[in-house]
Amino acid sequence: MIRFVNSGGEAATNAIRLCRAFTKREVVVKFDGCYHGAVDSLLVNGVESSKSPISEGIPGDLLDKTKVIPFNDFEALDIVDESVACVIVEPVMGNVGLIPPEKGFLRELRRACDEAGALLIFDEVITGFRLSKGGAQQLFGLRPDITLLGKIIGGGFPIGAFGGRRELMEMVAPAGRVYNAGTFNGSPVATSAGLSVVRRLRDSVYAELESKTERLCSALEDLLEDAGIPAQINRMGSIFTLFLTQNRLRNAEDARKCDTNRFLKLQALLLEGGVFLPPSQFECCFLSVAHTEEDLQKTAEVFSSAIAGGWSG
Ligand SMILES: *Cc1c(COP(=O)(O)O)cnc(C)c1O
Repeated sequence: MIRFVNSGGEAATNAIRLCRAFTKREVVVKFDGCYHGAVDSLLVNGVESSKSPISEGIPGDLLDKTKVIPFNDFEALDIVDESVACVIVEPVMGNVGLIPPEKGFLRELRRACDEAGALLIFDEVITGFRLSKGGAQQLFGLRPDITLLGKIIGGGFPIGAFGGRRELMEMVAPAGRVYNAGTFNGSPVATSAGLSVVRRLRDSVYAELESKTERLCSALEDLLEDAGIPAQINRMGSIFTLFLTQNRLRNAEDARKCDTNRFLKLQALLLEGGVFLPPSQFECCFLSVAHTEEDLQKTAEVFSSAIAGGWSG
């Protein structure tokens, strides 16, 4: 069953309320660098011993109930004990740039949750319908208890959704006693636009995106390598990030070590050439079927001129 709301952040807020009601526990575990919308209790990063809110105006008491651990850290999963209502995770990190899970990490997380009787929330607001029709969970063959969706499913209009098995979702009002409401929930405009996008997502769309993004990324990698620039391109399907570091990235802390100033210089040079990369090292790039072969070619050319024009210096 699924409930439509108006944003990804609302979906996260409601999913956590539902997990707390179902488990009668209060602690939520999140990962450093994962983003789940403008939700007070989740606007926190760092590690448990030195976590800090990423905004002013968040009461300290609220953060006592949120535990924060590093992504891809198998040992840190020990924190998932019988006080934990749920663990919320972006199965593929997309808000510090793109960082995929290491082999077996999500499976281990699933196991840790099952052992502790905690629920597992996959925040697929970015990955849902982007990595595949069934999102990251289909790719990895894993089932969370609750899935969050947003972005793509609104076709450009405001939307969010949370869903899971009947036993959980029937606890949501009006069938159950977990509050959820919103004047624009299930808005006919957003749901129609979203449906129209989702209906166009045939298998051939994913194959085309995969091939285009793969080709663009390898062209960029070649240029970087020829120029001797320390960089990593992380990619899954049509999502990628060019990280300015020599090192493989496993978590948010690794991403923070990148040369962010140099990234911004590149961003500015590309923009002058007519190629708009997100203006932050920590935002992913996304390809769309609307990008033509000429667009990809131009991107590589402008990138090459930026390198030749002194960015590498
Ligand atoms: C964007 C985002 C959200 C929040 O969605 P909004 O609609 O902006 O509230 C939640 N989770 C992830 C992974 C996101 O990227």
